[in-house]
Amino acid sequence: MKENLIQYQNILSSHGIKNTRQKKLILLELIDATSHLTAEELYQKLKEEKVGLATVYRSLKVFTNLGIVKEIPMDGLNYYELRIFSKKPLHIHFKCTNCNVMIDIDDSDINLDYIKLNQKVEMKRGFAVKDSNIVLLGLCKKCKEKLESKKMLENN
Ligand SMILES: [Zn+2]
Ligand SMILES: [Zn+2]
Repeated sequence: MKENLIQYQNILSSHGIKNTRQKKLILLELIDATSHLTAEELYQKLKEEKVGLATVYRSLKVFTNLGIVKEIPMDGLNYYELRIFSKKPLHIHFKCTNCNVMIDIDDSDINLDYIKLNQKVEMKRGFAVKDSNIVLLGLCKKCKEKLESKKMLENN
């Protein structure tokens, strides 16, 4: 984990960007995160460390521009996750429209299909795919089961 931090910090300094205490704290939160975070959520986690919301936004912008962080726009909010040196570099997302949870779909067989899909688009259209934001919308397993059992009760 610490090694990861150094890799990110090296990218920053190689672009002439100062490795501030705030940037370090934000990076550590992103490394620790099990799920995607919004700027507001990051701010809530770092408030006590005296990191302001404007600083969180500014740093995320810097990280996104450098390709360190991926921005996933969803329902007027931007979610952030590490994009490089991450355990799951390429994956699609699923968002539950009922409980708002955002889930990584990172099963290796699905990822393989996903890579194939990217390659197919590149070949067919002559594009170079650099990144993608695929968010599938629907009901997560928990919400689906909850709704189904509710329906069953209503029908009885
Ligand atoms: Zn749900
Ligand atoms: Zn993700």
